[in-house]
Amino acid sequence: MSRDQIESIKFELLMAISKKCVFLDRDGVLNEDNINYTFLLSKFTILPGVLEALYNLKEAGYVLVVVTNQSGIAQRKYTQRQMELCHIFLQEACEHVIDHIYFSPYHPSVTNSLLRKPGTLMFEKAIAKFSIDVKKSWMVGDRGRDIIPARQLGIKTIQIGNEIEANEMGDFKTESLLEASKLILKSGKKK
Ligand SMILES: [Mg+2]
Repeated sequence: MSRDQIESIKFELLMAISKKCVFLDRDGVLNEDNINYTFLLSKFTILPGVLEALYNLKEAGYVLVVVTNQSGIAQRKYTQRQMELCHIFLQEACEHVIDHIYFSPYHPSVTNSLLRKPGTLMFEKAIAKFSIDVKKSWMVGDRGRDIIPARQLGIKTIQIGNEIEANEMGDFKTESLLEASKLILKSGKKK
């Protein structure tokens, strides 16, 4: 067998095992966004329909990955531990259907990082870890910085709400994650 044939088989295998994924922003998508950061467990409120959306996407075979900027950590507004307590609560509420939560604690005023959206590094880590096929995958976010990195990587985008500049808008727009999940599941059935 030639080297080219081996490479082509390797590629076919990789494509066969590659998974579809829904990338999720956290604040404003999974839980209520607070103006002055969301870090207190007592103020961490999961939005209506979120659990149902997560269960349905998981059941349809999507890897669920949260990608969240948490720059309040670098700015010393709250601690990583406070954020982690919110994530433990979130995972327990949804029976651990979320496969991984990537967070970026950085802020340009303290330390810049490609991990911070609109950088792509949190997405790239997930793509490598879970063998994700970007063409079968989606990003749901409520800000331009959620849409930009996903689009750069060839991931389809859904924006929630209206707080996005015209040139950074998602491929689709919905009012909630539940609505977004229905759109994703419907589009999956067409293929
Ligand atoms: Mg957000």
